[in-house]
Amino acid sequence: MSPSRRERGSIAALALLAFAAASAAAQSPASTQAPSPPQATSAIPTPPPLLTKAYGRTVVEVQTARAVPGGVFPILIRGGRWASANTLLDGRRGAIALENGKLFGLIPVALDTEPAEHKLSLFFPGGRRTGGSVSLMVPVSAVSRPTRPRALPPEVLASAATQTALGHGRFLLAAIRTRDLKAYQSGPLRPPVDGPVVFPFGGTEDYGMEMGPVKDGLMGEHHRGVDYDVPVGTTVKAPGSGIILLARSLIFSGETVVIGHGRGLVSVLSHLTHVSVREGDVVNIGTAVGTSGKTGIGALTPHLCFSVYLHSLNVDPEALMDPGLWPAAK
Ligand SMILES: [Zn+2]
Repeated sequence: MSPSRRERGSIAALALLAFAAASAAAQSPASTQAPSPPQATSAIPTPPPLLTKAYGRTVVEVQTARAVPGGVFPILIRGGRWASANTLLDGRRGAIALENGKLFGLIPVALDTEPAEHKLSLFFPGGRRTGGSVSLMVPVSAVSRPTRPRALPPEVLASAATQTALGHGRFLLAAIRTRDLKAYQSGPLRPPVDGPVVFPFGGTEDYGMEMGPVKDGLMGEHHRGVDYDVPVGTTVKAPGSGIILLARSLIFSGETVVIGHGRGLVSVLSHLTHVSVREGDVVNIGTAVGTSGKTGIGALTPHLCFSVYLHSLNVDPEALMDPGLWPAAK
């Protein structure tokens, strides 16, 4: 018995969703209707910018200006004797490490986080005598993001459901999850191209169909990057210093470059026409890594999609471009 048309459709849809989740791929507006602009900053009801909590002689500082679903917040620990700490926010792990003599880290806020107060726990290494832990409540503010239609042709759905495509998705995910890199980047990321943002991170992708309750840890029907409207052939620059973790052609995201920046931060540049770096190359911020295009079945028009993952969680690249988050940059 072959599967019914409806079953095939739902299999394809599930496969697409799983793949899209793994791929961090760019997608372009399917209509000429302009998406509404991002409202990330205007929707934040001015929370206290800096939370502090004393822990013995140690002071924990948390900046909340970008603590929104899909955002990040920095932690700085003053007066501690530790060189690192692990963090836990809603069961998701993060880490902080010494940065210019300060214990510093960026903590991702998952896109599906409810706007409310969330418990952040820090665990300092060491046994009973030298280790320790402290918790504080961090307010996560609501944010409004636009929706765009994603009318993917049936042949795109079919190719996204192939074993090869799913394998590519897992391959990309493995690169995104690379851990324990040295800290290559110590300041805000830069836009990889000079061009206007046409669709922001986190916007809803309306596929016009039920995509199913797929739980893959990276969300489903939300835009995984920032889309820049640039013509084919535009120079794409490394948004931060790092090591090339992946540089090859994938079915959904096309010619793809993944850069590991250290501290759990990874960039993905999708739909390139040409890639000029190799896996293992070390690049500086601003180094050309290729040229933009519309390769991969996820690209309906020429553009550059720039995605960022922090400790394997997909977060807003524009948040990482905020110099205020990085004490080393001040
Ligand atoms: Zn995109």
